[in-house]
Amino acid sequence: MPLLSRRSFLAASALAGLAWPAGASAPFATAQGPGVYHTKLGDYQVTALYDGIWTVPIDDKFIRNASASAVDEALKAAFLPPRVLPISFTVLLVNTGSKLILIDTGTAGQVADTAGSLLDNLKVAGIAPAAIDTIVISHFHPDHIDGIKTKDGDKIFPNAEILVPEPEWAFWMDDGNQSRAVGAVLRYFRNARRIFADIAKDVRRFKPGAEVAPGVVSMPAYGHTPGHTAFSIHSGKASLLVMSDTVRNPYLFARHPRWQPSFDMDGPMAVKARLRMLDRAAADRMLVEAYHFPFPACGHIERRRGGYDFAPSMWAPL
Ligand SMILES: [Zn+2]
Repeated sequence: MPLLSRRSFLAASALAGLAWPAGASAPFATAQGPGVYHTKLGDYQVTALYDGIWTVPIDDKFIRNASASAVDEALKAAFLPPRVLPISFTVLLVNTGSKLILIDTGTAGQVADTAGSLLDNLKVAGIAPAAIDTIVISHFHPDHIDGIKTKDGDKIFPNAEILVPEPEWAFWMDDGNQSRAVGAVLRYFRNARRIFADIAKDVRRFKPGAEVAPGVVSMPAYGHTPGHTAFSIHSGKASLLVMSDTVRNPYLFARHPRWQPSFDMDGPMAVKARLRMLDRAAADRMLVEAYHFPFPACGHIERRRGGYDFAPSMWAPL
C-alpha cells in the first residue's frame, strides 16, 4: 500500500475539517500536570520529582572544543532549536522503607521562572518536606542547592541532615578561592555561603567513595566542579547509577562525550569522568539517572560510534 503523500494528507485533512460537526469545548490548559514518576528498585522505591526547566541561550564559546555549528547540528539531530540549551531539573527521592533521602534539592524558584515545582510534586507524591530525613548534595551549583532554603533564608526541609562532598565544601567555602573568583563563579561562591554559612552545624561532609545513606554509595566524578560527586543506589540485586551532572543534556554530552562545555570548571577532567561513567553504564547495562536529562530522567546508555545514546525508560506500572 502506498504511504500517504503530503498532498493527499492535506486534501484529506481539509475534507475532514469540513465534515466535523461542532463538538464540546474546553478551555486550553495553562500549565502542565504534575511530574512524579516512581521506579521500583529492589526493596526501595525511587521517585523522580520534576522541578522544571530553564532554557538558556548559548553563544559561540559554549563548547571550548567544538564549533557553534557542530552544536547546532547536535541540537537539530535531537529536534531541538538552535542556539538554546534546555536545562531540565529532576530531583530524586529514595524511599528505603524506613528512610527518605533526597538527592539534590532543585531550584526553589530561584534559578528560572519556569522551574521550582519540586515541592508541588513532592506533595503529589504524598511526602511532606518535614518527613525528609537526609539530603545528599552532588555539588554546589545553585540549581542543586538552592532548594535547601527559601529566598528568605528558611530551611525548606527542617528535619533533614544535609550531606555534602568534602572536596566541594573545601573549595567553595574557602575565602581565598572566593577572592580569586569572578563572574558566574563568584556568584556561585556567594550563593554557597548564603545556603550553608549559618547552617554549617547541620551539614555533614563525606569523602566521595563512602556509603552516605543505606544503599547509597557516593563516587568521585570531579571536573564539572572540584568536588562533583555521582552516586549508585543498591537494593537487593537492583542498582541505579545517579550520574548527577557528569552527563548533562544527553543529546549533546552523551552523543559527544568529549565536548568541553564552559560550565565544566576543569574540562579535561570532566571529560575523563564522563567517559568513565558512560562506559560503565553501557558495559554493565545499568539503569541510569541524571539531573538534567529529560523527565523522568531515567533510562539506559548504549554505545554508538563516536559517543553514546540515551534510551529513555518506558512508562511502567508499579
Ligand atoms: Zn546542574
